[in-house]
Amino acid sequence: MAENYDVIIIGSGPGGYVAAVRATQLGLKTAIVEREHLGGICLNWGCIPTKALLRSAEILDHSNHLKDYGLVLEGKVSADVKAVVARSRGVSARLNGGVGFLMKKNKVDVIWGEAKITKPGEIVVGKSSKPVVEPQNPVPKNVKGEGTYTAKHIIVATGARPRALPGIEPDGKLIWTYFEALKPDVLPKSLIVMGSGAIGIEFASFYRSIGVDVTVVEVMPTIMPVEDAEVTAIARKQLEKRGLKIFTSAKVAKVEKSANSVTAHVETSDGKVQQITADRMISAVGVQGNIENLGLEAVGVKTDRSCIIIDGYGKTNVAGIYAIGDVAGPPMLAHKAEHEGVVCVEKIAGLPNVHATDKNKVPGCTYCNPQVASVGLTEAKAKEQGRDIRVGRFSFAANGKAIALGEDQGLCKVIFDKKTGELLGAHMVGAEVTELIQGFVVAMNLETTEEELMHTIFPHPTVSETMKEAVLDAYGRVLNA
Ligand SMILES: Cc1cc2nc3c(=O)[nH]c(=O)nc-3n(C[C@H](O)[C@H](O)[C@H](O)COP(=O)(O)OP(=O)(O)OC[C@H]3O[C@@H](n4cnc5c(N)ncnc54)[C@H](O)[C@@H]3O)c2cc1C
Repeated sequence: MAENYDVIIIGSGPGGYVAAVRATQLGLKTAIVEREHLGGICLNWGCIPTKALLRSAEILDHSNHLKDYGLVLEGKVSADVKAVVARSRGVSARLNGGVGFLMKKNKVDVIWGEAKITKPGEIVVGKSSKPVVEPQNPVPKNVKGEGTYTAKHIIVATGARPRALPGIEPDGKLIWTYFEALKPDVLPKSLIVMGSGAIGIEFASFYRSIGVDVTVVEVMPTIMPVEDAEVTAIARKQLEKRGLKIFTSAKVAKVEKSANSVTAHVETSDGKVQQITADRMISAVGVQGNIENLGLEAVGVKTDRSCIIIDGYGKTNVAGIYAIGDVAGPPMLAHKAEHEGVVCVEKIAGLPNVHATDKNKVPGCTYCNPQVASVGLTEAKAKEQGRDIRVGRFSFAANGKAIALGEDQGLCKVIFDKKTGELLGAHMVGAEVTELIQGFVVAMNLETTEEELMHTIFPHPTVSETMKEAVLDAYGRVLNA
């Protein structure tokens, strides 16, 4: 007889494994199915290994400016790329092991293999189509194997994979996806990055820091197109100062490959075509949900453009089947996946007062140099929605701590509703803004007013003081500018 659970989760990324932990906390008998790597893309090929690479890049960038701090180094600091990559893979392996530990500690059964829903309440786990390729991340011990399993509730948390443009498909050799970019077999001298969303721009920033000649091609008018245009204009200027070449409103129309290089035909908005040749290209044109071979069509689960359609609690149109994380649509971010996982199982467990996920309050962080972080509406989006707004800004150039750090290129920008004083959005560029943005996320979540923010005491000297000053600026009360 098939082993029966309250909840079976397909996929152990940040959506799936966090949902599993919360489900067992709530007393639900839980199993998680994984075909490739505990921790999903985030821990193994996404958030974490990229941040490890970017940390190496950051230290290298600082070492190139030691003189500015009155420090002298005999000789030159340079990147040993093999060692940089080994460190990044090691960080991933450690966290991958950590998820195994969490599953054991929380008594979540791990089933190894590829899951398919056969009918509501039942899955079949078959042989994985994705062999484990990372020697550091082996199949964990004491997992359950192939077979039929039943559960009252099935949560699909199968994540996403790189999207490919027709005719410019990644080949793993000359045209990379993030997999190859995270673990390069050779260090290219030159690189074209197609797409300047968070993934593309982080790789562009990393490779530039370690000495690669990088060209970014973005089809939209601004880099990091979902971010506030004023903030990304500042980021662009600094990235260009670091030697990145950036084309916006430009499209890679076709790519020609030779033995060890690629030539991109780049169409700019004036109709001209430029040919750019580089050793390698990274295709970073977005991701698409893993909805195939899950039996979704057979059970009638509705999808839209490679994502499963859900309500604010992860429910699909089929009773007993839920979806969370990247496979349930944008923003495709780990913390959104985690939050959706928690909301979904709390609703399943029948907890009172479970709030639907509010996508407007999902922060976004890009860890390039300089960092960019935001929450809520951009100025353009607020205007598009017909909101009457007040905008406040504060430059890092007027912040004591930023100057002391030697990091005075940055901006904090806030957007309030003129009538109600509601904080609609906050946007930051500069040092450590990916850590700072959380202050505004908490404020938005608590529906804090401008008055409360202005009466909050911020520690001095900190870069966070730019946040208070930006709020004051929106109301004509700025103190230090
Ligand atoms: C290079 C890169 C950098 C990123 N950086 C950040 C960042 O800094 N911050 C951030 O918030 N987000 C970042 N992301 C996005 C983040 O990785 C994803 O949003 C997150 O991993 C989504 O989590 P998930 O649980 O939905 O799915 P995933 O993490 O993709 O996990 C899904 C899991 O399901 C498994 N699976 C799929 N199908 C089956 C099946 N049929 N049977 C069994 N198992 C299956 C997969 O093997 C996988 O382990 C980054 C992504 C990339 C690629």
